[in-house]
Amino acid sequence: MKFLSYGHQYIDEEDIRAVADVLRGDWLTQGPSVDAFEKAFAEYVGTRHAVAFANGTAALHGAYFAAGVGPGDEVITSPMTFAATSNAVLYLGGTVRFADMDPATLCLDPKKAGEGITTRTKVIAPVSYSGYPADLAAFREAAEGSGAVLVEDACHALGAKRGKIPVGKEADLTAFSFHPVKHITTGEGGMVTTDSDEYAERLRLFRTHGITKDPTRMEGEPDGPWSTEMQVLGFNYRLSDIHAALGLSQMKKLDRFVARRKEIASLYDGLFSSVRGLDIPPGHEGHAYHLYPLRVPAERRKEFILKLKERGIGGMVHYPPVHLHPYYRKNFGWKKGDFPEAEAFYSREISLPMFYGLSNDDVMRVAEEIRSIADAG
Ligand SMILES: *Cc1c(COP(=O)(O)O)cnc(C)c1O
Repeated sequence: MKFLSYGHQYIDEEDIRAVADVLRGDWLTQGPSVDAFEKAFAEYVGTRHAVAFANGTAALHGAYFAAGVGPGDEVITSPMTFAATSNAVLYLGGTVRFADMDPATLCLDPKKAGEGITTRTKVIAPVSYSGYPADLAAFREAAEGSGAVLVEDACHALGAKRGKIPVGKEADLTAFSFHPVKHITTGEGGMVTTDSDEYAERLRLFRTHGITKDPTRMEGEPDGPWSTEMQVLGFNYRLSDIHAALGLSQMKKLDRFVARRKEIASLYDGLFSSVRGLDIPPGHEGHAYHLYPLRVPAERRKEFILKLKERGIGGMVHYPPVHLHPYYRKNFGWKKGDFPEAEAFYSREISLPMFYGLSNDDVMRVAEEIRSIADAG
């Protein structure tokens, strides 16, 4: 019996050919395939710009940099996320201000985020957790008058929509990841989308060491055609053409990938909604279902995970709340009880298998095992 992990990439022969074509060509590092991938991505999301990065964490780092985060600046985000969302703030010398999640959406609570705003707030960073599109309008309203920039961590939410508008369009800057468990993969990779020419320029500068080769953008008179200028402290965060070719090929399948994830979620919802002690994830028309976070009774969560594993099913937990990691506790003094909603959610959560290649039989198998474990309690 095949082991079902919680997430898995889907790669076909077309993807393999696209990568092989790049390897046979002249460009390996950032080149024409990155340009084409960025263009297709911006078109999909509906923004003027999409700027590719080496991974989703680098994309977040770039987005915060573009928004102007530096020492003394505060960024408000959810403790119910992958540590990269807040780590990238620390890379820039910024200060992380967590606000609790809303159990009704599993995303950062806009009201609590609003209450955390101070004169030093530079960014509010909602995380569209599990693919549920965070309520951007509510964050916009909360940020009103504060000057805070909205940076959405949409690493779970490629293909999600608010009404008819794709996630990636509405925040000032939106970061995506192409890690193999995400909706599309490039192996490692990331992207930032924005409608702002100025942010896009800062993103491009940041991913290439802060160095520009464009004479029209230089601060001084260029010495000659060889001249480059380093204007800000950037990084080497380029995506390679090898990765981008895979991303471009995967984009063609994105709508299919998302549609299948929604089908799987609706099967799970139907199979679990009447089981005592289980809470299915909150629904939303535009949900992209990177994860299917089922809530089981907290005192039995470990038992569920261990029994599922014995039966060939890999449940995962997303996530240990970031504020409780030793690094965050030691350096910032956070402790248990600081964010009760995130902590309560964590104690009950199991991410069930959720990926394009999952068959209906696989879904039934997972559901039967979950129900039998629930019944045995
Ligand atoms: C995957 C992920 C990231 C980081 O992306 P990488 O490509 O792994 O660097 C950041 N935030 C969230 C919420 C993620 O799920």
